[in-house]
Amino acid sequence: EVKKNGKNGYQFYTGELNAQLQHKIELEVELRQAIGRDQLYLDYQPQIRTGDGRMIGVEALVRWRHPSRGVVSPGVFIPIAEETGMIYELGTWVLREACRQMKTWHDAGGPLITVSVNLSSQQFHQPNLTQYIKNILEETGLAPQYLELEITESMMMDASVSIGILNELTDYGIRISLDDFGTGYSSLSYLKLLPIHKLKIDRSFIRDITVNRNDKAIVATIISMAQHLNMDVIAEGIETKEQLDILTDNDCEKIQGYYYSRPLPPAEVEQTFFAPMRGAALRG
Ligand code: C2E
Ligand code: MG
Ligand code: MG
Ligand code: MG
Repeated sequence: EVKKNGKNGYQFYTGELNAQLQHKIELEVELRQAIGRDQLYLDYQPQIRTGDGRMIGVEALVRWRHPSRGVVSPGVFIPIAEETGMIYELGTWVLREACRQMKTWHDAGGPLITVSVNLSSQQFHQPNLTQYIKNILEETGLAPQYLELEITESMMMDASVSIGILNELTDYGIRISLDDFGTGYSSLSYLKLLPIHKLKIDRSFIRDITVNRNDKAIVATIISMAQHLNMDVIAEGIETKEQLDILTDNDCEKIQGYYYSRPLPPAEVEQTFFAPMRGAALRG
């Protein structure tokens, strides 16, 4: 809102906008320091195979333990990191830490599961993405088949570009999951061309699935399409047994959601989802 402020000037922001902007600028400055000050950490949300209840993977989700504001959620600071270019540094930290943790788990005799890491659009389009990720995998010692990158449909808008990037990544052995599936603009004709291993059904279709026939129809269709395209499918945001039953009835065998587990710190993943083993060895 632009307000006229007397003869010689304009006041560009109302008080409230000013306060919001101020808050954002503060967060920006503080986020810049957060990495160096060890304020970022990852929680891991188990992905469960419903047939036997086993954990088949985890999604790494970044959090910021702010010294005075408490835990800030990625929904707040990832957009700031993207706007300011900090996403590269932040994203590198996330990738390295997620790979390091999974390698530590594997070495300690934990289950040979995958770790999923969310990529921002800017990261996905950075030059030499594959080489950059190779370096992180080599540095941490994690084999490529245990890393799954979560990308979104909006990053696939220019299919001729995306297909090149995705081919490089998948030729190297990295897995690709299409996150928040159904909420973006996916052209189904591109979908069949892109080397994608997994569709991740967005939570917005799950929320009302027990009462909304349209959501149920969409979810059933995505599951069936994934099967026909030979892709894996997982549903996110399952919170209740009733939702789970509908997914199971429709042959969705993989689930991520509060019903099984919230995102957890590594030690709690071990305690709850690993077979009994020596805890000390696991944290590396
Ligand atoms: P996402 O990748 O779609 O991650 C799933 C989000 O849904 C997570 O929120 C998770 O905590 C939440 N969730 C999982 N199960 C349930 C459930 O049963 N009910 C409900 N209500 N929520 C559930 P979170 O951790 O706040 O992350 C939000 C978003 O921030 C992520 O959405 C992702 O887009 C982004 N994000 C998180 N970590 C990173 C990261 O390291 N890098 C990038 N670029 N983005 C990240
Ligand atoms: Mg995700
Ligand atoms: Mg998602
Ligand atoms: Mg999401």
